[in-house]
Amino acid sequence: MDLGLKDKVILITGGTKGIGGAISKAVARENAIPVFVGRGEASGNEMLETFKANGINAHFIQANLNEEGQCKRIVDEVLETFGKIDALVNNAGANDSVGLEAGNPKKFANSVFNNLNHYYEMAHYCLPALKKSKGNILNISSKVALVGQGGTSGYAASKGAQLSLTREWAAELLPYNIRVNAILPAEVMTPLYKSWLDSFDDPEEKLKNITRNIPMGNRMTSDTEIADLAAFILSEKSGHTTAQWFSPDGGYVHLDRSLT
Ligand code: NAP
Repeated sequence: MDLGLKDKVILITGGTKGIGGAISKAVARENAIPVFVGRGEASGNEMLETFKANGINAHFIQANLNEEGQCKRIVDEVLETFGKIDALVNNAGANDSVGLEAGNPKKFANSVFNNLNHYYEMAHYCLPALKKSKGNILNISSKVALVGQGGTSGYAASKGAQLSLTREWAAELLPYNIRVNAILPAEVMTPLYKSWLDSFDDPEEKLKNITRNIPMGNRMTSDTEIADLAAFILSEKSGHTTAQWFSPDGGYVHLDRSLT
């Protein structure tokens, strides 16, 4: 199926690695122009070179989304380079283990700022361009927003807020025909996931315990499975889909435990 994404400019925060990296590749396969943001210069440039070598139009912006002024600078650079933005994927984030017991108010506030603030800032600065393009916004949240995890209050609060903002922005942006949706990944092997797994004494055993509870196939979701859904939601094939929370997780969050 042709998703009709050809030459659409799609801005992906954290689009250099992991789930965001897979979304950059998925939209590039559909002949869209991925513009990906990351802090690491090397990983961003490496991805850009690979795209260029394959004749794909793409753009990398090195930035830390949590530094003042960076979100506006990113949006300005995209508009100077391409003159439009067709979609925003808010994706960058980190499960930073700031818990209720093992945390403190300052760490909590920092975690919420780091995981949530740039979702708002990016949407805010992209809005004039999205109004022109009748574009859309996709927020990458987490299953943690629905089921908790323990020991990660700041991340959980941010992921829950991203779901609320998906509904709130979908309502506010109805008059402009701008769709807003969210994906809630559960268990996807990425650099972030691997470093979390490695924090356990026996990562292999921990992984076995997780996958045995994933109803469909007792396996992790691949980053491509998340990214292909993202590409479909971003496309006009999903033209009447807004305010939705998608859980591509093999039934992990919604199916009866007795089915695993
Ligand atoms: P990841 O492997 O760590 O990749 C994160 C990406 O974001 C990288 O490109 C990283 O590049 C960039 N990034 C992080 N912080 C940034 C910042 N402050 N400024 C600019 N770029 C930044 O993470 P992931 O596992 O793919 O997670 C992506 C999203 O999915 C997150 O919102 C996460 O909460 C969500 N999620 C993931 C899972 C999972 O199983 N993996 C489950 C639920 C939800 P640099 O490091 O170079 O900056």
